[in-house]
Amino acid sequence: MQRRNFIKNLGMGVTAFAALGGSLPKGLTNSNYIIMQSFNTKEFPALPFAYDALEPYLDARTMEVHYDKHHRGYFNNFINAIKGTKFEDASIENIFAGISGAGDAIRNNSGGFYNHVFYWQNLAAKSSGPSSELSAALSRNFGSFEKFREALSNSAKTRFGSGWAWLYITSDGNLAVVSTPNQDNMLMDVSPVKGTPLLTIDVWEHAYYLKYQNRRAEFVDALWNVINWDEVNRRYRDAVKK
Ligand code: MN
Repeated sequence: MQRRNFIKNLGMGVTAFAALGGSLPKGLTNSNYIIMQSFNTKEFPALPFAYDALEPYLDARTMEVHYDKHHRGYFNNFINAIKGTKFEDASIENIFAGISGAGDAIRNNSGGFYNHVFYWQNLAAKSSGPSSELSAALSRNFGSFEKFREALSNSAKTRFGSGWAWLYITSDGNLAVVSTPNQDNMLMDVSPVKGTPLLTIDVWEHAYYLKYQNRRAEFVDALWNVINWDEVNRRYRDAVKK
């Protein structure tokens, strides 16, 4: 059975399943489960926390507008854009793999849908830290956790205009950071770098402007207080065992 059908056959709502926490089907993180389930049911996925849960680092008003207006808009536009096209019954992975042939509406809105689910899931009110495995890999690839943090922060702070900063696994298995423009990500065939994303930061102005105005660096520094390391650790475990 294909993984996509397997998920469909679970017959469980996104929110109900997310609440189960640790008992995800083997090989699935919260993020990839929610993305697949939402795509299959065409149901906009729930935010995994209350609007004010990440105060004072991310304010409630920003969270509400960001999730309920921006993210919902991408989701609705994405579902509308693929209607009647060959992408309607494809998996999200296949859509990204063929995005160069899809046109701007599908490219921008599929990325806007996926990247935001991925982002919400790597944020949480309680932040722990990287697992010993991920920690060792970060030290191997960046020298230390501090150096990794500096690299990802710099990538986020220096992306010109709108986009995303990522920690990801390269095709040869190393950890690296990169930023992508607009709503692109490294799963798309148009991306100059390819790999498996582990952690992302949204640096569109809509992600921080109400509270931080032009001070993107302050927003990026504050975000380290609300990184959901449990999810990032799951993504890393899931990616390295494949
Ligand atoms: Mn955004």
